[in-house]
Amino acid sequence: MDICFLTACELARKIRDEKLASADIFQSFSKRVLEYDKNINSFVECYDKPIYETKAGSSELCGVPIAIKNNICIEGREINCCSNILKGHVSAYDATVIKKIKSAGLNILGTTNMDEFAFGSSTETSAYGITCNPWDITRVPGGSSGGSAAAVAARLVPFALGSDTGGSIRQPASFCGVVGFKPSYGRVSRFGLVAFGSSLDQIGTLTRDFSDCADLLNIISGPDGFDATLSDVKVPDFRQYLRKDFSGLTAGVPIEFFEEGINPQVKNAVEEAINLLKDNRVRIKPISLPHTKYSIATYYIIASSEASSNLQRFDGIRYGLRVASNNLDDIYKKTRQAGFGDEAKRRIFLGTYSLSSGYYDAYYMRALKVRRLIQEDFKNVFDDVDVIITPTSPTTAFKVGEKSDPLSMYLSDIYTISTNLAGLPAVSLPCGFDDQGLPIGMQFIGKSFHEGDIIRLGYSYQNLTEYNRKAPVLNYE
Ligand code: GLN
Repeated sequence: MDICFLTACELARKIRDEKLASADIFQSFSKRVLEYDKNINSFVECYDKPIYETKAGSSELCGVPIAIKNNICIEGREINCCSNILKGHVSAYDATVIKKIKSAGLNILGTTNMDEFAFGSSTETSAYGITCNPWDITRVPGGSSGGSAAAVAARLVPFALGSDTGGSIRQPASFCGVVGFKPSYGRVSRFGLVAFGSSLDQIGTLTRDFSDCADLLNIISGPDGFDATLSDVKVPDFRQYLRKDFSGLTAGVPIEFFEEGINPQVKNAVEEAINLLKDNRVRIKPISLPHTKYSIATYYIIASSEASSNLQRFDGIRYGLRVASNNLDDIYKKTRQAGFGDEAKRRIFLGTYSLSSGYYDAYYMRALKVRRLIQEDFKNVFDDVDVIITPTSPTTAFKVGEKSDPLSMYLSDIYTISTNLAGLPAVSLPCGFDDQGLPIGMQFIGKSFHEGDIIRLGYSYQNLTEYNRKAPVLNYE
């Protein structure tokens, strides 16, 4: 038995039955990272031994290793969001999700690579070098949580946390053939997540299947008193939705998401999955989300505006890099000039421009209005359907360096961004492979705080198919 090929739930069971010790599990994964991650570069830091003590039996998943995207604070560890401006900055506190993970007895194996400050869809903008897709190392793993997705796909860790502002969990999950879950806005505390777009960001999970996903969501969800946008809607036990049962579910299929720009193989795979669900008595209804065609434009104004304001704090005084000068203004300018990468600077330009007094009404205010229309689109269709099914991304993993203009990169999130604008829960799960052997993902979107519906649909679909059980062969040498 290869320990690293077991899921988190399987490992946890073996620990409970005293067939495996958590220390040995940790060592097996840490060894595997050493062996294979030189080709993938999914970890920024991988610990050679546990960094804190866990109490036996503190949760279902006690003793299982987990990886954390490098924009979530772990006390006493470097948090740098893969940006030069934050290199060397050590976190003074634990994010809420980290506190919860520690008290559930999970072992943090390390931190994962990402696009700088989570700006991107390919993990190519990291100050720690690109992450490669374990299915084909000449391709990207998606982004921005590309390190987390690649590590889970390559069985370097059983599961990982990521963050999703416009698709950053789901698009890499789709490119790497794993399950990427973004909860409803307000479900998981953002305390200790380095802010990108505060009205859009949500921490979520990258797992191999829905059982691990439900267990991990159980651990990280719920109020903490530190995030004012957290909802007090009761957190259910997500495991109760792990039922092989499609009964009574109606799924909407938005016509706009299958039109121009989609790769025919992706389209076919998602359509086939929809037919399989139909054969299993899920009611399928064509729907229309007419304003989602504006979601990329709307998102890039809102997300960049929020990002430009959130990034103001990195001024060379309080965190990380400081370019010395005896003039304060110079410290700010030179530090930011040297510390931020091109994409971060682009977002700052875009954001400060949209927020500037002369253009605020024309851009930012207008984007907020369109955001409302997109939210209304979802509200209208959710009167008739329980879930929405779409492709996750228009293509499978593209080649490293292939998308050199920002717009073509931005388009890879065309199907995921609208759910962040509307605050809805959504998940990407594997639904096939293309003729290059690359994973294809489909997306289920649920009503706000109805994560259970998409977990149930995902779990049932996963039990009908084999796609999420296939692992990439790591023979790169
Ligand atoms: N790719 C999108 C962007 O670049 C989304 C990133 C994210 O979700 N963090 O903004």
